This record gives sequence, C-alpha cells and structure tokens, in this order.
Amino acid sequence: MPRPNSTGKVGLVGTGMVGASFAYALMQRGLANELVLVDLDTARAEGEAMDLNHGLPFVRPMRMYAGTYEQLAGAEVVVITAGANQRPGETRLDLLQRNAAVFRQIVPQVVAAAPDSIIIIATNPVDILTTISDQIAGLAPGRVIGSGTILDTARFRYMLGEYYNVDPRSVHAYIVGEHGDSELALWSLANIAGVRLHDFVGANGRGYDEAALHDIFEQTRTAAYEIIKRKKATYYAIGLGLLTIVEAVLRDQNTVLTVCSPLQGQYGVDGIAISLPTIVGRNGIEEVLNLPISEEEAKAFQQSAQTLKERLAQL
Ligand code: ADP
Repeated sequence: MPRPNSTGKVGLVGTGMVGASFAYALMQRGLANELVLVDLDTARAEGEAMDLNHGLPFVRPMRMYAGTYEQLAGAEVVVITAGANQRPGETRLDLLQRNAAVFRQIVPQVVAAAPDSIIIIATNPVDILTTISDQIAGLAPGRVIGSGTILDTARFRYMLGEYYNVDPRSVHAYIVGEHGDSELALWSLANIAGVRLHDFVGANGRGYDEAALHDIFEQTRTAAYEIIKRKKATYYAIGLGLLTIVEAVLRDQNTVLTVCSPLQGQYGVDGIAISLPTIVGRNGIEEVLNLPISEEEAKAFQQSAQTLKERLAQL
C-alpha cells in the first residue's frame, strides 16, 4: 500500500555511476512520479536527466530533472550516492576521510529541504557514513538507512543459487556486519525452501560441502575488488539494491533487507550503524531483527562492529 500522503517524489544526490544506475532502475520500475537529480557537477546531473528523459516513451510517465537541494522539498525518500569513488587497491575504509567531509556538507542541506524524508546512504564506507549522517541529520530513529550489506547478501544468494542451480530468490541467506572485510555469513540460518543448507541437495546433486561454501563466502566478500579490477567500478547491482530499499519505503512493504542503521543494543552493539536483517517500511527502519544466530556468529558480528568503532574513532 502506498503511504496515504504519498508524493511519489524521490531525490538523488550524486549522479555518478551508482546514482545513475539507481535512477535508470527507478524509471523502469515505474515506482516514482518525480525524481530530482542533484550533483556538485551540475552538467553531469543535467546530462543524466536528459538521457533518462529520452527513454520515457519506452516506460511509464514520470518527471525527472536536475535540481538544487531546495528542490528536494517534498521528497519521500532521498538517496545519497555522492562522494569519492573507491580506487583500485583502495579499501573502503581508506575512503573515510574524503567522504566524511562531503557528507558534512550534503546531509544538512537534505534535511533542511526535506525534513520528513527517509534518507538512504550508499556511499562507502557506508556503515560509517550512515553513522555520521544519522548524527548530523538529528532525525527520529530509523529515518537514515545505509545500503550496508544489501549487495553482499545479493551476491551471496546469487552465488549459492549458481552452486545449487536454484533461483537466487529461493535462497535465504544473509551477509551481516560491516560492508567490507569483516563481514560474515549467517550460515546457521541459511536455507533454501526452508531446508537448512546442511540438509539441502540441489537438483544438480550438489549438497553441503564446507570448502565449496566457504569459497562462495570468500568470493562474495571480495567481489567488489574483483569487479573494480576488471571494470573500475561497480554500479548495476547496487543500483537495484537501492531501488529495493526505496520500493520497500514507498510501498510500505516491511521487507527484510540487510541494510545498516545505528544499533541500539542488538548483540551488545550500540551507537554504530552496521547491517543486520532489518524490516524496512514507510518509517524507514521499522525493526532490526533479533535472530537466533550462533554464538560464533554473534562473536564475529561484535568483532566486525568493533572494527567499525575503531575506524569511527579515527575520524
Ligand atoms: P560512484 O561509482 O560511487 O557513483 P562516481 O564518482 O561515479 O562514483 O560518482 C560520484 C558523484 O558524486 C559524482 O557525480 C560527483 O560529482 C558527486 N559528488 C562528489 N562530491 C559531491 C558533493 N559534495 N555534493 C554533491 N555531489 C558530489
């Protein structure tokens, strides 16, 4: 159900590769009435708006235009993808200093223009930028969401689907923790069609093989590096991930997604944004789920949170 006072207006700050991929996915889904494209590089935002608008005869009507922060007024959701990009060989955490400064400029302007919006952050390092943005925004809890490990979870489901020859949508398995090196798979809850991975055998005869599954996790964890090595950046899949978060909010879907938000004591973690399976709906973060994960997983999760806390302290 759409929100009763739905404007169907979406804002986008940052029209680089990730922002443009999100915009392209959004127009094809026919989900929004209006999309405002904001970028420091106004020519780039204008160019994207032109290119996207020329595709309108092939999809459903909506308004798309390059605009200012003020023109975000009335947006239900504002997606922020602006910032410096990850360079080859650079870890996500190396980006921190560069992008924290950018966010101190952007977030106050978004909040001033669209104080009722849900803000979705995709720029890396996403966990720390979401933590900072939430502090800067000063909005009610749950209104700032980071894309977190939504993409890592998608990659993991895709690769498990390939291994078992099953539609990735039928694979229920989550990557949680930092969007980065210390992330972890919740193996204890992973299942296909409700059958624990331990017991599942695909139609291709493949069953539980610890080494193969560990390899799939490692490929998930290092996927961004591998793609960047080959094509310098990643954007299509995260664009679709952002679309999924936006859709969950605009349609009040209460979808379970591994997004990051500042935790309030879950697994003993407080005050830092980090990913867990989370219900996303019209209020943004509706609930961070408290799942019966294994002790070992809880420890690895806390360790991942500790890594992020130390990075945040370095700022
Ligand atoms: P990605 O692949 O993450 O999308 P890009 O480098 O392609 O990275 O895009 C990042 C975008 O963010 C660029 O269009 C850039 O102009 C924009 N940007 C950088 N700094 C700011 C800022 N302070 N305000 C708004 N946009 C910004």
